Amino acid sequence: MSPRNAATRVSGMVERPPGFCYRESKDSRGRGSALYCENVSLNHLAKQYGTPLYVYSTATIRARLSAFEKAFRHFPHTICYSVKANSNLSILRLLARAGCGFDVVSGGELERVLRADRRGARKIVFSGVGKSADEMLMALKAGILLFNVESESELSVLAECAARLRKEARVALRVNPDVDARTHPYISTGLHKHKFGIPIASARSLYAQAAGIKYLKVAGVSVHIGSQITDVEPFAEAVTRVADLIRQLSADGHTIELVDVGGGVGIAYEQREVDFADHVARYASGVTGPLRELKVHLLLEPGRAIIGPAGVLLTSVLYRKRNDGKRFLVVDAAMNDLMRPALYGAYHEIVPVDIKSETEPQEVVDVVGPVCESGDFLGRDRNLPPVEEGDLLAVLDTGAYGMALASNYNTRPRPAEVLVSGKSAKLIRRREKVRDLLSTEL
Ligand SMILES: *Cc1c(COP(=O)(O)O)cnc(C)c1O
Repeated sequence: MSPRNAATRVSGMVERPPGFCYRESKDSRGRGSALYCENVSLNHLAKQYGTPLYVYSTATIRARLSAFEKAFRHFPHTICYSVKANSNLSILRLLARAGCGFDVVSGGELERVLRADRRGARKIVFSGVGKSADEMLMALKAGILLFNVESESELSVLAECAARLRKEARVALRVNPDVDARTHPYISTGLHKHKFGIPIASARSLYAQAAGIKYLKVAGVSVHIGSQITDVEPFAEAVTRVADLIRQLSADGHTIELVDVGGGVGIAYEQREVDFADHVARYASGVTGPLRELKVHLLLEPGRAIIGPAGVLLTSVLYRKRNDGKRFLVVDAAMNDLMRPALYGAYHEIVPVDIKSETEPQEVVDVVGPVCESGDFLGRDRNLPPVEEGDLLAVLDTGAYGMALASNYNTRPRPAEVLVSGKSAKLIRRREKVRDLLSTEL
């Protein structure tokens, strides 16, 4: 069976190739189309594993990773996937096998990466504004590549930890370039008013201080200006400022080998992506341009751009209801399973898994979950063909910051996760049970 591009036949239904496409299906109700993840039917997965269910496409992850690799092929670089976007061990293993390093922001994430890739420590970067001494000790023992230090106090704690273990810590200062990323305020991090990084103007003196400390090795400069950034200019601007700093630091006698430009490459949530390879190529030229003359190795920390479009959240319609003319679909996934709409007002495309006919009239509905909050919605005022109770919906582009942000609010066990590759589907996290949740309580 070859994938059929039903998007051209079924108006308005957005697909996400190579992972998620409609195929012609013949069911008891006649002819129609059904959504697949690679060669696996999403109907089939929902039947086997239940809903809500996260489903990820290996082909999409690989395709997006190779777009990055291709765009940066002329510049020495390492992709350090940002673990916080989606930290499932099987996803990390897949990325490690594809050659990725990792960006971690906690001791827990560090443990995950070491579990997924025991010999991968030399490709791990440790970011975060509040690393504890215990976390630093653990990272030093593992022998990670780089600490991205965010304050003078953190630098001295790291120095103590390194001295205690008599192990050298490679250090970059995360500088705050005061660049407006023009993204959602909660995920914008590169302005002086944000808690992140060290003001770029004060970096030189802190580098001088670091260079004088035994067991600290000044190795790089790091910057991360935010997430879901769709323009190239803010990245180019930030790296231009970093390049200026590196020239100053070199004049001061430091050897800067590593430049960590963070993550933040945005994805197209609201429409079909123009062309990801193009987009990453433009990003690559914006980022590498200012660094051309410098002999540095680039570290990239994409999270969302790799895993976001590689995942969907499958959910079943529990009830249709109408309140004074407003139509609701109450589904079995809620804000605890996918927090982005409630947290950021984020938009995710929602599509029916089965399309019965191309000519069905659409209706305007709010897709809401069972949690007791009015903020518990997955989509508002959506045009959908009429779906019935029991039908399946797919919430698209939920591979990043979906399961990673899931909680147990309302004592709801978190969803299961499935990783598809071609014709095969593997359960990579079993559905939680209420028993799991109660097990930590005394
Ligand atoms: C969150 C984060 C990333 C990943 O951001 P994406 O938008 O998912 O690419 C990379 N680096 C750091 C330091 C981060 O905090």
